[in-house]
Amino acid sequence: MGLCKYCLQPAGLFRWQHRACAERRQQALSKINSALAEVLNDKTSADELWGHLEFTASDGFIDKQELQSLVKAGLVAAVKRASADHLVSQEEDNRFGELCQALIFRQMNLAHPHRLCLRRRCSGD
Ligand SMILES: [Zn+2]
Repeated sequence: MGLCKYCLQPAGLFRWQHRACAERRQQALSKINSALAEVLNDKTSADELWGHLEFTASDGFIDKQELQSLVKAGLVAAVKRASADHLVSQEEDNRFGELCQALIFRQMNLAHPHRLCLRRRCSGD
């Protein structure tokens, strides 16, 4: 009897996931991606946003580490989209810096580095 890789409950003979669990995860992924897509224009505070993302992730079997990389990719994509579309405004740049700081670097205990430095760190791997 295999265990579901998401909820760790028995999934049946030669089965490693429940369809419902896989769907729940897919839904969480698309919720997270759509929350990140509009993130530069959104006025939600970083803390509130993080709370929402964390809740959605844990509800959808997405671990902290995976959430971190989703957030990172989502932020970079949002900035790329914005700069393909128009010149990134000071406001968007500030917002990006604030979100990077709050969502990605807070957990790494970095002191407030310069935004440009953050942007480089966000874009590079
Ligand atoms: Zn399951």
